[in-house]
Amino acid sequence: MSRGRGRPALPSPFTPTVQKRYLDEITTGARLEDAASTVGVHRNVPARHARTDTAFAKAFEEAKARGREARRANGPHNASRYRYYGCHCPDCRKDHAAKRKDRRHRADDRAAEGRVIDLGSGRDSPSSFLLPLPSSGRAA
Ligand SMILES: [Zn+2]
Repeated sequence: MSRGRGRPALPSPFTPTVQKRYLDEITTGARLEDAASTVGVHRNVPARHARTDTAFAKAFEEAKARGREARRANGPHNASRYRYYGCHCPDCRKDHAAKRKDRRHRADDRAAEGRVIDLGSGRDSPSSFLLPLPSSGRAA
């Protein structure tokens, strides 16, 4: 009985036809996992295939880049779009402002409970942050 290394290779379900369908899914903005399940392969299969097929790897990268653009173009207008894609349309602004207000209220609540010092209050800076009081958790 001849023994190879590991399991004998099965014919890959990731045929050129399936690859094309997968890349089309990715290009139109589907998430990697969703695209894989749509065409019926495990989500690891395409990335593994890309390691040995440079043409596919290149097409895969292009599809992902175009998919990101597609998601960006079709995505909802909200705080995430404001922050990560720089969309400052009224919808994005409004959601961003609401979420920021929310975050600040929660920070104010924590500060009011005396557990933290608010070093960022009143500053509109991404580096605003909260630190625990030096004395917190220590016996006086
Ligand atoms: Zn927007």
